[in-house]
Amino acid sequence: MNLLNNFKHILIILILIFATILSIKAYADNNSLVIVYPKNNAIINANSTFFIGHTHPNAVLTINNEPVKIYDNGSFVKVFNLEKGNNQVVIESTANNNTQIKKFNIIVPKEKESTGISEPTFTTLDETLIVTDKEAPIRETPYGERLTPAKENMVLQAVGFINNHYKILLDDGNYAYIGQSTVKKSNCKKIQNQILKEIEISENGQNIIIKIPTYQQTTASISNKDNLINVKLHGTTLDFKNYSIKTPYIKDFSFKDNSFQVSLSSQNINGYDYYYEHRKFVLKIKKPFESGIKDKIIAIDAGHGGKENGAMGPTEIPEKTINLAISKHLKQELEKLGAKVIMIREDDSTVDLYKRVDIAKEEDADVLISIHNNALPDGLNPYEIHGTTTYYYQPQAKILAEKIQQNLLQATEFNDLGVKKSSFVLTRPTTPVSVLVEIGFMINPYEYEKLLLPKYQRQYAIGIVQGLEEYFK
Ligand SMILES: [Zn+2]
Repeated sequence: MNLLNNFKHILIILILIFATILSIKAYADNNSLVIVYPKNNAIINANSTFFIGHTHPNAVLTINNEPVKIYDNGSFVKVFNLEKGNNQVVIESTANNNTQIKKFNIIVPKEKESTGISEPTFTTLDETLIVTDKEAPIRETPYGERLTPAKENMVLQAVGFINNHYKILLDDGNYAYIGQSTVKKSNCKKIQNQILKEIEISENGQNIIIKIPTYQQTTASISNKDNLINVKLHGTTLDFKNYSIKTPYIKDFSFKDNSFQVSLSSQNINGYDYYYEHRKFVLKIKKPFESGIKDKIIAIDAGHGGKENGAMGPTEIPEKTINLAISKHLKQELEKLGAKVIMIREDDSTVDLYKRVDIAKEEDADVLISIHNNALPDGLNPYEIHGTTTYYYQPQAKILAEKIQQNLLQATEFNDLGVKKSSFVLTRPTTPVSVLVEIGFMINPYEYEKLLLPKYQRQYAIGIVQGLEEYFK
């Protein structure tokens, strides 16, 4: 009796275990269809979107009865045309006689109604401002094209206020705009024209240093091309007397009115920075690079990280993970050649964009390279637009961007989306020489499949290294 009871118990337990195993297996099968993008009930203002996800690699997949190609790793990306209003989408995946169905509704808003927001009004002012941010954007119009940014403690003359921006008087009747949150009102006197007679030109470590004592810390407009750098010090008349040039790297120096120009003995400017220090305007120009990659300081920025995933691939591997993997290969390959590598992040941590630039500057990096992989907004087709792109912003980074793009393309064999000039936090620094690469597309299944494999990750890193080697030749 007792034995029978025990047997019953054991049998029940066995049945329970078996049932659990079966249900786990069924659960796994049922859940093998995953849609990474878009979300159900998403509001999308475009005439198409793409369904990105993964399922069983051998499944038959349809979206509204149209067949969808599944890649070896189970990835799929399907462009889906949208109409105004509600779009019903049925996704069916069948594998091993098991069909899973997911239903989506995507909403495309009808014509936009007028928002009724009135035009911002302009107020006339006469105030002296002082910059409180370490670096503050100055723009041609509020939210418009950027000019040379102002640095902390620079003094500005405001003549008006509009749309959260002060309108400032630069020089000779030119105006620009600066964000309200980056400045405070100052008790300083209104900016007077200052006549500056002293200048020190010397060198220190890796830099040529130019110092100009001033009475008031006014803004500067700086531009550079090839081996020339031109600095306009607003609100000044330059009248330098008896100065000497204590560095062999300057080929020519001249000044006129409120501007001075330096030409280096090398072919290019390799970066510069400027700020005020003890009432002196300081311009720091990087000395010409010696040839070879050995001992060069290279900052590698693995894009995104921590809370920032970047783009999401069809099998749910985020861009941040791929960026870091490629960055680690890049570090390894560069160190083999004797370069000093600064990793801006070495793990899955969240790092602020501006902090990334600060780290590279603090380490006095020669080059800053930011590693990313691309995606597209709704309305575009990732089977038509995909490939490799290298971005730069400053003129001194253009050659580096070209060398990296050429060599990286040979490594990826993806489409050539070109070298592009674009203003990003990671391309705007005037020093180090900064570029950002978008190696491939997270939402193109062919490129994504390769980006996941260590063999290709290393190959792409080597492509970048070859670009750097050519740059430092
Ligand atoms: Zn990215």
